[in-house]
Amino acid sequence: KSGFIAIVGRPNVGKSTFMNRVIGEKIAIMSDKPQTTRNKIQGVMTDKDSQIVFIDTPGIHKPKHKLGDYMVNVAESTLNEVDAVLFMINAEEGYGRGDQFIIDRLQRVNQPIYLIINKIDKVHPDKLLPLIDQYKEKLNFEEIIPISALEGNNVPHLIKVLKEQL
Ligand code: GDP
Ligand code: MG
Repeated sequence: KSGFIAIVGRPNVGKSTFMNRVIGEKIAIMSDKPQTTRNKIQGVMTDKDSQIVFIDTPGIHKPKHKLGDYMVNVAESTLNEVDAVLFMINAEEGYGRGDQFIIDRLQRVNQPIYLIINKIDKVHPDKLLPLIDQYKEKLNFEEIIPISALEGNNVPHLIKVLKEQL
């Protein structure tokens, strides 16, 4: 099985950390500074029965200038070319205006969209359910999967679900 998966989400939610974990190589640029990973960065995860190309799309957030507009357009067209989209959020932060901007764009995407709640190592499990309810009403998600990209919790499950999707 093989396919393409795009990852979107606000800066610092953990997109690069997730990519680095699953592809096992440092390809995506790691930074605490928003907008450091400007370009489409791809990483390939290969194992015995599958190959998944991950595309980090950091361009999808509210543009502050003309170049930002261009980047949003590039990122948006990417989303309709992949097999599935991972919308990553930070479990610590909850719903915010930056998310609404992304959700508005995701509404035009026909591909299956997974809500990935990252950094679960930093929150009490009781906080997850209210968070899930909040996002669930904004968009129709294929599935909602909590993970810790940093520590690896539930990442194998996510990969398994994605493989089934391909
Ligand atoms: P990106 O902007 O979405 O690519 O986010 P990064 O991958 O650069 O991560 C931003 C910061 O969050 C870094 O300091 C990461 O180490 C941290 N981070 C990412 N994933 C996790 C996680 O699952 N748990 C914790 N505690 N920190 C994380
Ligand atoms: Mg990044």
